Amino acid sequence: EELERIAGWCRERLLARADARLLVVLPGAAGARERLAALIRQALDPASALAGSGAPSRVAIEGGQPLAQRPMIAQALATLAHLAGAESDFEAFSRWLRAPYWGRPAAPLRARLDVRLRERPMARLRLRDFLGALGLVPADLQPTARELNAQLTGAAATLGEGSASPRLWSERFAAALSAAGWPGPLAADGVGQQTRLRWHELLDELGGLTASVGSLACDEALRLVHELASRTPYRPADEDPSVTVSPVPSDPVVRYDGIWVAGLHAEAFPQPPQPDPFLPLGAQVASGVPSASATHRLAQARAQLAAWRRSADELILSAPAHAEDLELLPSPLLAGTAPEPLPRRSAWLPARLHREGLTESLVDATGRPWTAALPLPRGTRSLDLQNQCPFRAYAELRLGCTRRERIEPGIAPNRRGELLHAALESLWERLGDSRSLAGLSDAALDALIARSVEEAVQGTLARPLRGRRTQRRPRGSQLDLFARPPPILERECRRAARLIRRLCDTERARPPFRVEATEGDVRLTLAGATLHMRIDRVDALEGGGRAILDYKTGKRVSADWYGERPTHPQLLAYAEALGRDVVALATVTVSAREVRFEGLARAPELLPQVRAVSATGAPDAWAERQHAWRAVVTRLIRAFLAGDAAVDPRPGACDYCHVRDVCRILETGDG
Ligand code: SF4
Repeated sequence: EELERIAGWCRERLLARADARLLVVLPGAAGARERLAALIRQALDPASALAGSGAPSRVAIEGGQPLAQRPMIAQALATLAHLAGAESDFEAFSRWLRAPYWGRPAAPLRARLDVRLRERPMARLRLRDFLGALGLVPADLQPTARELNAQLTGAAATLGEGSASPRLWSERFAAALSAAGWPGPLAADGVGQQTRLRWHELLDELGGLTASVGSLACDEALRLVHELASRTPYRPADEDPSVTVSPVPSDPVVRYDGIWVAGLHAEAFPQPPQPDPFLPLGAQVASGVPSASATHRLAQARAQLAAWRRSADELILSAPAHAEDLELLPSPLLAGTAPEPLPRRSAWLPARLHREGLTESLVDATGRPWTAALPLPRGTRSLDLQNQCPFRAYAELRLGCTRRERIEPGIAPNRRGELLHAALESLWERLGDSRSLAGLSDAALDALIARSVEEAVQGTLARPLRGRRTQRRPRGSQLDLFARPPPILERECRRAARLIRRLCDTERARPPFRVEATEGDVRLTLAGATLHMRIDRVDALEGGGRAILDYKTGKRVSADWYGERPTHPQLLAYAEALGRDVVALATVTVSAREVRFEGLARAPELLPQVRAVSATGAPDAWAERQHAWRAVVTRLIRAFLAGDAAVDPRPGACDYCHVRDVCRILETGDG
């Protein structure tokens, strides 16, 4: 409220006299001054605040921030560090690549390169790793990759190596940045030009160290320039500001038309004594150091008041009533002044634009229909997402609002899952049925599992992320028996082999079965739509019928097979595609926590721990359940085809959803 009043006051005074010069003293955290400056800008010129135009601001904050923290300069420092071969974590590298301070390639092309880079996870990387990865991007991005490669290689060559004087390094830094395309078109406006100029002055300062520092290696010169930029406070000069916001409650020296001093609550004005702990207190008091005693602080505060009164035609003193939950009293030095009434209108732009009763709500829960002639995107993923939340399905599969790959140290959970799927596929292709499994000794089984895992590594972790599960593993692919995998892969292989062995032990106790298909492609045509699906595994059971198995490698969720929004709609779609001889379906969790079958079957004991369908009184409860599942899948397909995009999550669906900012469920209080 205090800041709003100040902004309103500035607006009134400048509307009354356009050439008025105002000073606002606001001690305390820098963020409050930034907020105040933004409020005043909005109050003075709402149109340019809304348009985000680069019109010169009429508000200036005294002081500034370290030059190294200006985004353009931070990008220059990062570019030089990368050109010099520094290693950085992936996210920092990605921010550098996507920053707006490049001449070329254009931002969308660099963003696409970034997405592709995430398919080859490198937790930490150097420029040479990046340049190597550029050679592997798809054909449509090759021209961009080549351009960037040439640009950065040229810039790195311009930077050079070895030792040189600070003067030479400052020249090389400028030339290398220019070769790398820094700072791009954003530097063309007034603020950009000033910042660039200040950067070149800084490089001159680096060059000026030649006499005192001597010869330096590149990383030493970079460290120096970084330190200089970190120590240099900087703020682009605004042209003749009408309002100056100052953090310092001191004598203003020049005269203003109006001064507003804010934050004068009892605990801040006069300031509490703060004697220097390293000097004798008596000496400080005797020599009149203002911070030495309460008496001196009081005298200092009175002198400040007198100086402010002298320096302006109008002086306003204010104190906040609260700091968060803490109630504050005005300074005793403000005694005798009556509090002013609240302003009629807020200076905050959104509050001023708001018109009571003129806000309309429009619920628009339907997007564009899906063309039924096309298969549903990403197979059963469309059903799963539609079931989780229609809006998420629409956002992810229709609007392309996909989650960016997160690069983490080690093997990402989804890649672990792919390794296990591929290893199990390979294992069952060799085993074929439960009799072969039972006939193997423990040692022979372990050897077979190890071989399957090794083969799976070649087909999964050694290949890029995109499309791995949609590509078939090369049959009989040759292993490079002489190449030793890195320790992290060895560890992952041991883990996968351990889990698969636990699953095999569980499967050894099953009634006889034959593995009919692994990672088999099937097609479902239902409700006018086509789905292409891949089923992890289908077993033919000795007692007749087939069991559908779906491997899960993450945390198990309790399954619901009976509700309107069941937990695993993909299994229901598989069952529908395979027809009436399906007698059981189950998820098979293969994780360090547990190895477990969970599903539903026509009869008990068909699969480990899998119960028979509940009796309903119908002559064939299993057929009745299949009928109900068909209705669920049909409803989901129809909703997807119709473009149903309602924000209607299943319980828990929002917990791991990445489109929360788009659906804005948090604004409804339901998320
Ligand atoms: S956050 Fe929740 S409501 Fe929003 S799209 Fe995701 S699942 Fe739906």
